[in-house]
Amino acid sequence: MECRDVRDRLSPFLDDELDPVTSREISLHLASCPDCAAALDRQRKLGESLRRDLEYHRAPDLLRARVAHAVRAAVRREDARSRPSSPTWRWLSAAAAVIALAGGTWLLTRGRADDLTAREVVSGHVRSLMANHLTDVASTDQHTVKPWFAGKLDFSPPVTDFAEAGFPLVGGRLDYLEDHSVAALVYQHRNHVINVFVWPMAGAREGAAPAVTRQGFHMIHGAHAGMAFWVVSDLNVAELATFAGMFAAPPARP
Ligand SMILES: [Zn+2]
Repeated sequence: MECRDVRDRLSPFLDDELDPVTSREISLHLASCPDCAAALDRQRKLGESLRRDLEYHRAPDLLRARVAHAVRAAVRREDARSRPSSPTWRWLSAAAAVIALAGGTWLLTRGRADDLTAREVVSGHVRSLMANHLTDVASTDQHTVKPWFAGKLDFSPPVTDFAEAGFPLVGGRLDYLEDHSVAALVYQHRNHVINVFVWPMAGAREGAAPAVTRQGFHMIHGAHAGMAFWVVSDLNVAELATFAGMFAAPPARP
Protein backbone atom coordinates (compact mmCIF):
# COMPACT_ATOMS: atom_id res chain seq x y z
CA MET A 1 0.00 0.00 0.00
CA GLU A 2 1.27 3.47 -0.91
CA CYS A 3 1.66 6.29 1.61
CA ARG A 4 -1.11 8.24 -0.11
CA ASP A 5 -3.57 5.35 0.23
CA VAL A 6 -2.69 5.03 3.91
CA ARG A 7 -3.11 8.76 4.58
CA ASP A 8 -6.54 8.74 2.93
CA ARG A 9 -7.70 5.98 5.28
CA LEU A 10 -6.23 7.17 8.61
CA SER A 11 -9.50 8.55 9.91
CA PRO A 12 -11.61 5.39 9.27
CA PHE A 13 -8.62 3.35 10.49
CA LEU A 14 -8.63 5.21 13.83
CA ASP A 15 -12.40 4.79 14.11
CA ASP A 16 -12.09 1.07 13.36
CA GLU A 17 -14.35 1.34 10.34
CA LEU A 18 -12.19 -0.55 7.80
CA ASP A 19 -12.40 -4.17 6.78
CA PRO A 20 -9.85 -6.41 8.54
CA VAL A 21 -7.66 -6.89 5.43
CA THR A 22 -7.26 -3.16 4.73
CA SER A 23 -6.81 -2.48 8.42
CA ARG A 24 -4.00 -5.02 8.58
CA GLU A 25 -2.29 -3.60 5.46
CA ILE A 26 -2.35 -0.15 7.05
CA SER A 27 -0.96 -1.50 10.34
CA LEU A 28 1.91 -3.18 8.45
CA HIS A 29 2.65 0.02 6.53
CA LEU A 30 2.56 2.14 9.73
CA ALA A 31 5.04 -0.20 11.39
CA SER A 32 7.61 0.48 8.69
CA CYS A 33 6.81 4.08 7.69
CA PRO A 34 7.64 6.73 10.32
CA ASP A 35 6.03 9.51 8.24
CA CYS A 36 2.65 7.81 8.11
CA ALA A 37 2.99 6.78 11.78
CA ALA A 38 3.56 10.44 12.65
CA ALA A 39 0.53 11.43 10.57
CA LEU A 40 -1.56 8.90 12.48
CA ASP A 41 -0.29 10.30 15.76
CA ARG A 42 -1.22 13.84 14.70
CA GLN A 43 -4.69 12.72 13.67
CA ARG A 44 -5.21 10.89 16.97
CA LYS A 45 -4.08 13.93 19.00
CA LEU A 46 -6.35 16.22 17.03
CA GLY A 47 -9.28 13.93 17.80
CA GLU A 48 -8.38 13.86 21.48
CA SER A 49 -8.04 17.61 21.78
CA LEU A 50 -11.35 18.16 19.96
CA ARG A 51 -13.08 15.82 22.37
CA ARG A 52 -11.49 17.59 25.35
CA ASP A 53 -12.59 21.01 24.06
CA LEU A 54 -16.13 19.77 23.57
CA GLU A 55 -16.24 18.47 27.12
CA TYR A 56 -14.91 21.79 28.39
CA HIS A 57 -17.54 23.81 26.59
CA ARG A 58 -20.30 21.61 27.92
CA ALA A 59 -19.28 22.20 31.54
CA PRO A 60 -20.34 25.89 31.84
CA ASP A 61 -23.84 25.04 30.56
CA LEU A 62 -24.19 22.36 33.22
CA LEU A 63 -22.98 24.80 35.86
CA ARG A 64 -25.41 27.48 34.75
CA ALA A 65 -28.29 24.99 34.87
CA ARG A 66 -27.28 23.90 38.37
CA VAL A 67 -27.13 27.50 39.65
CA ALA A 68 -30.50 28.34 38.10
CA HIS A 69 -31.94 25.25 39.75
CA ALA A 70 -30.50 26.25 43.14
CA VAL A 71 -31.92 29.76 42.85
CA ARG A 72 -35.38 28.48 41.94
CA ALA A 73 -35.26 26.08 44.90
CA ALA A 74 -34.25 28.91 47.24
CA VAL A 75 -37.10 31.10 46.01
CA ARG A 76 -39.55 28.22 46.46
CA ARG A 77 -38.34 27.69 50.04
CA GLU A 78 -38.88 31.34 50.79
CA ASP A 79 -42.39 31.26 49.32
CA ALA A 80 -43.19 28.18 51.40
CA ARG A 81 -42.32 30.07 54.55
CA SER A 82 -44.92 32.63 53.36
CA ARG A 83 -43.09 35.44 55.03
CA PRO A 84 -43.71 38.96 53.85
CA SER A 85 -41.65 39.54 50.73
CA SER A 86 -38.11 40.35 51.77
CA PRO A 87 -36.07 42.24 49.19
CA THR A 88 -32.89 41.64 51.20
CA TRP A 89 -33.34 37.88 51.03
CA ARG A 90 -34.03 38.03 47.30
CA TRP A 91 -30.99 40.19 46.76
CA LEU A 92 -28.84 37.85 48.85
CA SER A 93 -29.90 34.75 46.95
CA ALA A 94 -29.22 36.50 43.64
CA ALA A 95 -25.80 37.57 44.91
CA ALA A 96 -25.05 34.03 46.09
CA ALA A 97 -25.93 32.72 42.64
CA VAL A 98 -23.62 35.23 40.97
CA ILE A 99 -20.78 34.34 43.35
CA ALA A 100 -21.32 30.61 42.76
CA LEU A 101 -21.35 31.14 39.01
CA ALA A 102 -18.23 33.30 39.10
CA GLY A 103 -16.44 30.85 41.39
CA GLY A 104 -17.35 27.92 39.17
CA THR A 105 -16.22 29.78 36.08
CA TRP A 106 -12.97 30.69 37.78
CA LEU A 107 -12.32 27.04 38.66
CA LEU A 108 -13.08 25.98 35.09
CA THR A 109 -10.81 28.69 33.70
CA ARG A 110 -8.04 27.70 36.09
CA GLY A 111 -8.48 24.03 35.19
CA ARG A 112 -8.41 24.98 31.53
CA ALA A 113 -5.20 26.99 32.00
CA ASP A 114 -3.55 24.09 33.85
CA ASP A 115 -4.61 21.76 31.08
CA LEU A 116 -2.99 23.98 28.45
CA THR A 117 0.17 24.25 30.55
CA ALA A 118 0.20 20.47 31.02
CA ARG A 119 0.14 19.99 27.26
CA GLU A 120 3.01 22.44 26.77
CA VAL A 121 4.96 20.78 29.57
CA VAL A 122 4.63 17.34 27.94
CA SER A 123 5.65 18.82 24.57
CA GLY A 124 8.69 20.43 26.18
CA HIS A 125 9.64 17.18 27.86
CA VAL A 126 9.28 15.12 24.67
CA ARG A 127 11.16 17.78 22.67
CA SER A 128 14.05 17.65 25.11
CA LEU A 129 14.29 13.87 24.80
CA MET A 130 13.84 13.65 21.03
CA ALA A 131 15.92 16.51 19.73
CA ASN A 132 19.00 15.39 21.65
CA HIS A 133 18.83 18.72 23.42
CA LEU A 134 18.37 17.75 27.03
CA THR A 135 20.77 20.26 28.53
CA ASP A 136 22.49 23.51 27.56
CA VAL A 137 24.67 23.21 30.63
CA ALA A 138 25.51 19.66 31.62
CA SER A 139 26.62 19.56 35.21
CA THR A 140 25.78 17.77 38.41
CA ASP A 141 27.00 20.80 40.35
CA GLN A 142 24.25 23.19 41.44
CA HIS A 143 26.92 25.87 41.86
CA THR A 144 27.59 25.62 38.11
CA VAL A 145 24.01 25.30 36.94
CA LYS A 146 22.51 28.17 38.94
CA PRO A 147 24.97 30.88 37.76
CA TRP A 148 24.62 29.62 34.18
CA PHE A 149 21.03 30.93 34.15
CA ALA A 150 22.13 34.39 35.29
CA GLY A 151 22.00 36.82 32.38
CA LYS A 152 19.88 34.42 30.34
CA LEU A 153 16.74 34.80 32.45
CA ASP A 154 15.40 37.72 34.46
CA PHE A 155 14.91 35.46 37.48
CA SER A 156 17.05 33.00 39.36
CA PRO A 157 15.57 29.50 39.54
CA PRO A 158 16.10 27.43 42.69
CA VAL A 159 18.70 24.80 41.83
CA THR A 160 19.28 22.01 44.35
CA ASP A 161 20.99 18.70 43.75
CA PHE A 162 19.03 15.79 45.24
CA ALA A 163 21.69 13.15 44.49
CA GLU A 164 21.69 11.95 48.10
CA ALA A 165 18.01 11.05 47.74
CA GLY A 166 18.62 9.29 44.41
CA PHE A 167 17.67 12.21 42.15
CA PRO A 168 20.93 13.65 40.85
CA LEU A 169 20.93 16.95 38.98
CA VAL A 170 22.03 16.42 35.38
CA GLY A 171 22.00 19.98 34.08
CA GLY A 172 19.79 22.77 32.85
CA ARG A 173 18.62 24.52 29.72
CA LEU A 174 16.48 27.39 28.56
CA ASP A 175 13.02 26.52 27.34
CA TYR A 176 9.88 28.36 26.33
CA LEU A 177 6.44 27.74 27.85
CA GLU A 178 3.26 29.80 28.00
CA ASP A 179 4.82 32.56 25.93
CA HIS A 180 7.79 33.17 28.18
CA SER A 181 11.28 31.88 28.78
CA VAL A 182 11.54 29.35 31.57
CA ALA A 183 14.32 27.49 33.29
CA ALA A 184 14.36 23.75 32.64
CA LEU A 185 16.22 21.76 35.29
CA VAL A 186 17.04 18.20 34.41
CA TYR A 187 17.23 15.43 36.99
CA GLN A 188 17.61 11.72 36.70
CA HIS A 189 16.21 8.83 38.70
CA ARG A 190 17.54 5.41 37.65
CA ASN A 191 17.10 5.57 33.86
CA HIS A 192 14.24 8.09 33.95
CA VAL A 193 14.72 11.70 32.95
CA ILE A 194 12.84 14.32 34.97
CA ASN A 195 12.34 17.80 33.58
CA VAL A 196 11.41 20.59 35.98
CA PHE A 197 10.14 23.77 34.34
CA VAL A 198 10.39 26.83 36.59
CA TRP A 199 9.22 30.40 36.19
CA PRO A 200 8.24 33.23 38.54
CA MET A 201 4.61 33.47 39.59
CA ALA A 202 3.56 36.11 42.09
CA GLY A 203 1.12 34.99 44.77
CA ALA A 204 1.20 31.31 43.83
CA ARG A 205 0.10 29.01 46.64
CA GLU A 206 2.99 27.00 48.16
CA GLY A 207 2.92 23.23 47.80
CA ALA A 208 2.20 20.73 45.07
CA ALA A 209 -1.00 19.66 43.30
CA PRO A 210 -1.96 16.01 42.71
CA ALA A 211 -0.34 14.33 39.72
CA VAL A 212 -1.91 14.47 36.27
CA THR A 213 -1.10 12.15 33.37
CA ARG A 214 -1.00 13.08 29.68
CA GLN A 215 0.21 10.89 26.84
CA GLY A 216 1.83 8.49 29.26
CA PHE A 217 3.78 11.16 31.17
CA HIS A 218 3.10 12.12 34.76
CA MET A 219 3.18 15.72 35.89
CA ILE A 220 3.04 17.43 39.24
CA HIS A 221 2.88 21.17 39.52
CA GLY A 222 3.16 23.53 42.42
CA ALA A 223 4.89 26.59 43.73
CA HIS A 224 7.78 27.40 45.98
CA ALA A 225 9.34 30.74 46.94
CA GLY A 226 7.41 32.77 44.35
CA MET A 227 8.16 30.31 41.54
CA ALA A 228 5.75 28.02 39.73
CA PHE A 229 7.18 24.64 38.86
CA TRP A 230 6.04 21.71 36.71
CA VAL A 231 7.73 18.35 37.19
CA VAL A 232 7.32 15.88 34.30
CA SER A 233 8.62 12.38 33.67
CA ASP A 234 7.70 8.84 32.70
CA LEU A 235 8.74 7.88 36.23
CA ASN A 236 5.95 6.36 38.36
CA VAL A 237 3.68 8.76 40.23
CA ALA A 238 4.81 7.75 43.74
CA GLU A 239 8.50 8.45 43.12
CA LEU A 240 7.71 11.57 41.12
CA ALA A 241 5.64 12.84 44.06
CA THR A 242 8.58 12.20 46.39
CA PHE A 243 10.77 14.25 44.10
CA ALA A 244 8.20 17.06 43.72
CA GLY A 245 7.86 17.18 47.50
CA MET A 246 11.60 17.74 47.86
CA PHE A 247 11.55 20.34 45.12
CA ALA A 248 8.67 22.21 46.80
CA ALA A 249 10.43 22.15 50.17
CA PRO A 250 14.16 21.63 49.69
CA PRO A 251 16.10 20.62 52.79
CA ALA A 252 17.86 23.53 54.46
CA ARG A 253 21.52 23.71 53.49
CA PRO A 254 24.27 24.49 55.96
ZN1 LIG B 1 3.89 5.84 4.46
